[in-house]
Amino acid sequence: MVMRLVDEIFPLVEGFYVDLHKNPELSHAEYRTANSVAEWLTRTGFEVHTGVGGTGVVGILRNGDGPTVMLRADMDALPMEEKTGLPYASTARGTDAEGGEVPIMHACGHDAHTACLVGAADLLAEARDHWRGTLMVVAQPAEETIEGAAAMVADGLYPRFGRPDVVLGQHIGPQPAGMVTHREGVLMAASEATSVRVFGSGGHASRPDATVDPVVIAANIITRLQTVVAREISPSEMAVVTVGMVRAGTKSNIIPDEAYLEINTRALNTLVADRLRTAIERIVRAEAAASGAPREPEITVMQQAGVTANDPDHTHDVAAAHRAYFGDGYVIDLPEPVTGSEDFGVFGLPGDPDPIPYVYWFVGATPHDVWAAAPGDTPYEKLAGVPSNHSPFFAPDREPTLRAGLAALTIGALTYLGRAEDDIVPTGAQQAFQVDGAQRPFAPDGAPAHEPSAPTVAEPAPVAAAEPSAPLVPSIAPESGLEGGTDGGVPDENIGESTQSADMDALLEETGEGRHQEDAEGSTRQANMAQLLADEAPAPSPAPPQGAPVAAPPPQGAPISAPPPPPGATPYVPGTYAPDDRPASGDASEPQPYEQQPEPGQDPPREEPPFRL
Ligand SMILES: [Zn+2]
Ligand SMILES: [Zn+2]
Repeated sequence: MVMRLVDEIFPLVEGFYVDLHKNPELSHAEYRTANSVAEWLTRTGFEVHTGVGGTGVVGILRNGDGPTVMLRADMDALPMEEKTGLPYASTARGTDAEGGEVPIMHACGHDAHTACLVGAADLLAEARDHWRGTLMVVAQPAEETIEGAAAMVADGLYPRFGRPDVVLGQHIGPQPAGMVTHREGVLMAASEATSVRVFGSGGHASRPDATVDPVVIAANIITRLQTVVAREISPSEMAVVTVGMVRAGTKSNIIPDEAYLEINTRALNTLVADRLRTAIERIVRAEAAASGAPREPEITVMQQAGVTANDPDHTHDVAAAHRAYFGDGYVIDLPEPVTGSEDFGVFGLPGDPDPIPYVYWFVGATPHDVWAAAPGDTPYEKLAGVPSNHSPFFAPDREPTLRAGLAALTIGALTYLGRAEDDIVPTGAQQAFQVDGAQRPFAPDGAPAHEPSAPTVAEPAPVAAAEPSAPLVPSIAPESGLEGGTDGGVPDENIGESTQSADMDALLEETGEGRHQEDAEGSTRQANMAQLLADEAPAPSPAPPQGAPVAAPPPQGAPISAPPPPPGATPYVPGTYAPDDRPASGDASEPQPYEQQPEPGQDPPREEPPFRL
């Protein structure tokens, strides 16, 4: 059975993840990451193309007649300093777009997405006798800047490599680790980032009468913008207008010549997004005129992401397959869209007369004990109390998160690639939600935690025996080139840095230097990862989730004020977005298993009901 290979492949996925986490790369600079992905896919038998839309990687595995399923992950990290205290925390630094040196961290979990992508690709390649069709694997650059998906499409992704019948993707978030969250229809908001320069006429602070003060203009703009959502948007609609940056002047006794603002908006349909954009422009121009500005303001839309709108039917099917595998209690339906944004929807060709259906879901990453200890009684309150994406404290619970992500993506593909009925068996559910015996099960809705009860899930599936002649994982040959990787884009100097074969302990040991001085005993080779984490991980951070920049995904902050349209609601306005109106949218000579073994006989407690939003 295909899914039984999860246990086999998992240690390698885990090693790949830790390596990516330690070596994050900024948007558009995912060279090492892309190379690692390309190496893995090449050795797994995929036809591999690199340099698509920048550093993007495309892998194709043709396996007979059947649908084409595209799996997508994003690869980029963020310019921020990691403060998780994890043994494999990033200390990487790099150069941002402005030329400044910045710390880099995988604070949005794209390392997990990429690791699950290559793991699912490997697993499906190994189990190709169990399915038919074409698997298209896409590792995308620059999601955080909302540019990578569009760049890959513009680079001929579909004309060059084939058009998929469905596109699948996932994102980890602050929900309890291993929880899979689906939503039919609108899932994530449209967003825009707009810059505004307003011009005045500078002078001495003592003679304001001889100037036009751009600071006052900017202040009036900011204040007036607060009325847009309050007074111009229907109370039944979700809309956000945030002025996230204000910059003007250098000294108290100088009235500057200009002021600079950056404004971020969110909306769940295009009509509201258009209204926000129009209102911002009108207010900016009117305030400048009201103050007698000598020049028209400059208004520039810097980033724009459309609504992420899941195809309802396909989402239903994938969610059903996930339930069949994980169990009903671990797959939930999100009642409301989230205000984060993504460029994943670009792969659905919004605006195209024949858009491609897609399904995007969330996978929880918060350790269950952290979740249980978070303040609040409701899931939304707890979501606001645990480190979330883009927080320097965002520390996914590695094993349950990766297991769930790997399984969810693989099952998603098998939903379409046929002959899946006997492949999707609930044999791995408990693996994804294993809770340490010392931890109490998280108690949703503030209810008392259930006592761990007799396991209701089948015993762990036996691992399919790999045939000696066809080992599960191809060997690593750093010197080997990338077959089919003739598209350029990945510098040669990065080739050979893949750590698919990396010794997990070595990875940890490297980072653990200094941290393990007292107890190192000369080596961490035998170190138990759980022990390491228990020793090293900081207490759950009280730090609140950081504000969500343009690309921040899963639920963040307070509950969304506006509920989603009721089921079956008619479109907001004919021609604008509505749920039914999607945007027109080798040989493994030496596998390097991770040595930490699950403790046998420790069946996880199943909390029921585990989580209800
Ligand atoms: Zn992200
Ligand atoms: Zn992000």
